[in-house]
Amino acid sequence: MFGVTGVEGVAELTFLGLYALQHRGQESAGICVIDAEGVARVRKGTGLVADVFSADDLNSFIGTSAVGHVRYSTAGGSRPQNAQPIVVRYARGDLCIAHNGNLTNAQELREALVEEGALFQTTSDSEVIVHLIARSREETVEAQIRDALSQCEGAFSAVISVGDTLFAVVDPRGFRPLVLGRRGRGHVVASETCALDIISAEYVRDVRPGELIRIRGDEIRILDDLPAAPRVSPCVFELVYFARPDSHIWGVAVDRARKAFGRQLAREHPVDADCVISVPDSANSAALGYAEESGIPFELGLLRNHYVGRTFIRPVQADRDFGARIKYNPVREIVQGRRVIVVDDSLVRGTTSTSLVKFLKEAGAREVHFRIGSPPVRFPCFYGIDMPSRAELIGASKTVAEVEEILGVTSLGYLSLEGMLNAVEAAGPFCDACFSGEYSAPLVDMEKGLVAIQAPPGC
Ligand code: AMP
Repeated sequence: MFGVTGVEGVAELTFLGLYALQHRGQESAGICVIDAEGVARVRKGTGLVADVFSADDLNSFIGTSAVGHVRYSTAGGSRPQNAQPIVVRYARGDLCIAHNGNLTNAQELREALVEEGALFQTTSDSEVIVHLIARSREETVEAQIRDALSQCEGAFSAVISVGDTLFAVVDPRGFRPLVLGRRGRGHVVASETCALDIISAEYVRDVRPGELIRIRGDEIRILDDLPAAPRVSPCVFELVYFARPDSHIWGVAVDRARKAFGRQLAREHPVDADCVISVPDSANSAALGYAEESGIPFELGLLRNHYVGRTFIRPVQADRDFGARIKYNPVREIVQGRRVIVVDDSLVRGTTSTSLVKFLKEAGAREVHFRIGSPPVRFPCFYGIDMPSRAELIGASKTVAEVEEILGVTSLGYLSLEGMLNAVEAAGPFCDACFSGEYSAPLVDMEKGLVAIQAPPGC
């Protein structure tokens, strides 16, 4: 998510911010520009940021504030109608919302709203927030937003605009990151600091868990917090995999955190080998940390094709390894006849890893020691990271020996949960539910057996 106000060229700045945040979602992108009269205009579509907006779109989008979003679907499924920001006109003016995270009581809220006559346009949990704001009986816009979000459980970092006033908010547990920046006299909010860097905005601070901030032009006001949660629990998987290594979130440099995971991994699972290679790009920092700690040289033994899009023509003779083969290729000269340590940031289904091990062996690797910069992913995430069901998670039911056998590796070692948490202790405590099964926010819909909603006609 990205929001900017109080500067010239808000559409272009939002485009650039979203460009830097593309790793957080590749399904759809949207920009809403709000003019000085508070009128919102939105352009959104499926695909990557650079494909959705043309230069003409950006030039014709004149306004004083803008809100942008790239979508990565978890709740609500992938439908063009679910692209964000969501923009509606309600009693207090044009309302726009960009939301990151997953509400864990969205179905319960939605069913109650539908019962009262609310008409939903999308299957996304974010639309629930829009209805709650529009139906709130509170007097002021800020009280309506607080009232709406106080009813939501789970993960929500959001950038909201009503008229040309921006609001930035993070749920009381602080699951997803949101940072505040300055550019000239204007203000910027973004999911990660890499989006501030691209527009040369200065990082001011993180939006705190439970904090609600109002930004109007160059004036910024901290409003009353949302009701506190029993504990703060930012998502540790942001540091493991999701955030960009050049970002700082929760006071942590993501690259440093991953290097620390890699160093700890080397202490926990040392092995005699000739080189350390990474599964690029998400494991680069962890692999460098492993190499540093072990003294075994880091080499670029696996290459990644950066031009692989979401849609490609699958050749008729495609095999099971096709998905990995078009993305990765080993450097034969580096791996042939050698004992190779491969570091990946996480093991999820094990499908990519199985293919990679096969490629490395075909390229002549003598031994393949797989090292994972996080514990086994054993539980699905309900707070906004797209994870398969437990049945598909290889670490959920398989022992290390069984996974070694499935992957076909010489040895396998996961970073321990304790080792991972200790490495980033200063920024914790974290939500580690995907590794531990200890869910920090109640799973209301799941516990009540509420099933995912059906798409309305036309969706
Ligand atoms: P696999 O070998 O199939 O378990 O895939 C592991 C790879 O998936 C790792 O290299 C991770 O970087 C990547 N990964 C981890 N979590 C996710 C996620 N939620 N969505 C997409 N890719 C992920």
